[in-house]
Amino acid sequence: MKIHEYQAKALMRQYGVPTPHGVPCFSVDEAVAAAQQLPGPVWVVKAQIHAGGRGKGGGVKLARSIDEVRSLAGSVLGMQLRTHQTGPEGQTVRRLLIEDGADIRQELYVGLVVDRATQKVCLMASSEGGMDIEEVAAHSPQKIHKVFVEPATGLTEAEAEAVARAIGVPEGSIMQARAVLQALYRAFWETDASLVEINPLIVTGAGDIVALDAKMTFDANALFRHPEITALRDLDEEDPAEIEASRFDLSYISLDGNIGCLVNGAGLAMATMDTIKLYGGEPANFLDVGGGATTEKVTEAFKIMLKNPKVKGILVNIFGGIMRCDTIATGVVAAAKEVHLHVPLVVRMKGTNEDLGKRILADSGLPIIAADTMADAAEKIVAAVRGQ
Ligand code: ADP
Ligand code: MG
Repeated sequence: MKIHEYQAKALMRQYGVPTPHGVPCFSVDEAVAAAQQLPGPVWVVKAQIHAGGRGKGGGVKLARSIDEVRSLAGSVLGMQLRTHQTGPEGQTVRRLLIEDGADIRQELYVGLVVDRATQKVCLMASSEGGMDIEEVAAHSPQKIHKVFVEPATGLTEAEAEAVARAIGVPEGSIMQARAVLQALYRAFWETDASLVEINPLIVTGAGDIVALDAKMTFDANALFRHPEITALRDLDEEDPAEIEASRFDLSYISLDGNIGCLVNGAGLAMATMDTIKLYGGEPANFLDVGGGATTEKVTEAFKIMLKNPKVKGILVNIFGGIMRCDTIATGVVAAAKEVHLHVPLVVRMKGTNEDLGKRILADSGLPIIAADTMADAAEKIVAAVRGQ
């Protein structure tokens, strides 16, 4: 789960990470009132969306007067902000952060992620802050310093200090940087975060270390332990199809292709997407209906897939283990009738009550294309979608 910059900064302050003073706002009037509370003479108007690259996209603006805050807030609020992370359609700006303008001497980069290979938290830091870290990683990887943190000790003073030196923090600010890095590690660890990124972490003219941007993502499987973090969820920033799917306990991820997939089991869903691609097709979604899918769940799954105008065909691939094939078949038939299915549908089912399931599909009178193997199913749906 992602949160906004202003929310991440509030969390970080609780852990002792300094940030500029700022106020989240939902309207131009609130933005003006917020600016009046801050000392000035420079304010920053920052679009709050769940994507980075806002600066380049025109979502971070400097203001030198309250009037300028008013006019910038008016133009940023409600804009469709396009960045390299939003996709071409962009994201509507509904919230702003009005912040003190900082006196930037140096822009650094700090990130924390879980490293699967070592099963440790990896701290990454670089002197090249403020720009695309992907560019730095691609062209000058030697400028990214990594520490794989021992879980039993946490990030030690010695490690934090060495990283601070490696990324060029001036001598007089090393102790502060050390404390900030350790605080960031604690914030990551204690909130069950999956990503923390500060880009840029700055050294100010006065030599202070301040988080000027903040991004935090949390492991959804651990959110039950953090009701105060769960409360920060902003549904406006999420894919409506994915929200709808989560209401019915369906694991659904939107993708770019045109073949809708309805599968039980995450592994089988991944394999199904791979097989579609192998035959030259592109999946429109990942969808795992889970082990205990009911007719109602299958119907909802169909509705969600068909709301996507890009979907030109559907592939149902079911392994009947705990799930019985006849239950799925009944669900598929009911759903196809209810949604007046207008795209080709290929169904492949194997396992418990397979014969009964196939009979239900055949007797339904619907133009369902039956398939026997996964390869057969993928080939048939790709051909059906092409033939349209
Ligand atoms: P994004 O990463 O989405 O582009 P940032 O918060 O990193 O957004 O802002 C982009 C740039 O704007 C920063 O690299 C920094 O140079 C400048 N900036 C952001 N916040 C402030 C601030 N409070 N004071 C001065 N400059 C800022
Ligand atoms: Mg940034």
